[in-house]
Amino acid sequence: MSQRKIPVMIPLLGEEEAQAAADAVRSGWVAQGPRVARFEQEFAATVGAGHGVAVSSCTTGLHLALVLLEVGPGDEVIVPSLSFIATANAVRYVGATPIFADVDLATGNLTVETIDAVRTPRTRAVIAVHQGGVPFDTAALRKAADGWGVGLVEDAACAAGSTAYGQPAGTGAAIAAWSFHPRKLITTGEGGMVTVDDAERAGRLRRLREHGMNVSAADRHASAQPVLEAYLETAYNYRMTDIQAAVGLVQLGRLAGLVAQRRELAARYQELLAGIDGLVPVRDPAYGQTNYQSFWVLLNPEYGTGRDEALAELAARGVSARRGIMAAHLEPAYADVTPGPLPVTERLTRDSLILPLHHALTADDQDYIVGILRELAGGRA
Ligand SMILES: *Cc1c(COP(=O)(O)O)cnc(C)c1O
Repeated sequence: MSQRKIPVMIPLLGEEEAQAAADAVRSGWVAQGPRVARFEQEFAATVGAGHGVAVSSCTTGLHLALVLLEVGPGDEVIVPSLSFIATANAVRYVGATPIFADVDLATGNLTVETIDAVRTPRTRAVIAVHQGGVPFDTAALRKAADGWGVGLVEDAACAAGSTAYGQPAGTGAAIAAWSFHPRKLITTGEGGMVTVDDAERAGRLRRLREHGMNVSAADRHASAQPVLEAYLETAYNYRMTDIQAAVGLVQLGRLAGLVAQRRELAARYQELLAGIDGLVPVRDPAYGQTNYQSFWVLLNPEYGTGRDEALAELAARGVSARRGIMAAHLEPAYADVTPGPLPVTERLTRDSLILPLHHALTADDQDYIVGILRELAGGRA
């Protein structure tokens, strides 16, 4: 029917990234080295954190965050089921039990109330997600977690460039994990970062990502004297390469522009969609701004067409939309878990879809996509 092909996301990668990667290769230092160190400093400054520790992915970053907090068997960690599955998986990596909490319908995020509803004396930590880039209420959740005496790990995989209370979403986070997968705003192919404000914690994280060594391979290499390293604990190889960091440094320079452009495109979607009954687009919460890493729309019953039917129709006409954010408790990997009621999670995952949003999306593409959604409103004739 249509030759048009609109992907849901395209990373913005230019000649500059290719050049930076080539420079890293030509330098002869391709493993974690000086470019990773620079990327850590610049990224931490961008998201408002004291220290950045680059890792191989957000998933491994979440794992290290829980190791750092000494979460283990017998402990419960509260997570949203409505998240990419890595959030819950990280809890199982340390032998703890993920406890699924429900989310707020407008933001898709945990709230103080939904966390409190599943909190027990075994709760050791909460992993709160800035879902699809929509910030959770940082002030409320950080204060509540402090009051309860539980650790708060912030899954900021999607949140580079999002703000809360007028500051970057990472500002004031005790510990946050970020992703540079190509589905996020800026990418290093695969890659992640853990940010912390505390220097001692940063030091421990550096050790944990590098086999528990008391001196990094890069520092040992740079030293004129022989350095005899020691292995202080059983740890991991979760390092980022200098090739990835070289790309990341260029990408970081694009972040502000990407966020501004995505917010303009999102505002245009919101305007175009406003006239369609029963279709509710994601918006900024009162306390912050999303980077619109994911632009989702919730289909209410008045819309008349079901989510899967809408997805199929969009796909048939060349529009690569996606189902809404997944719910981990509905996946086979968590079939052995019986959570309490998660009505909002189940509604969001069943009735929402994610529309294409990326730097190459044109106004004409948006008109085309919204035209299809308008046709589907009220059911098909
Ligand atoms: C993408 C994502 C992750 C995983 O990030 P990786 O870097 O691919 O490991 C974790 N949590 C959330 C919420 C995500 O969206």
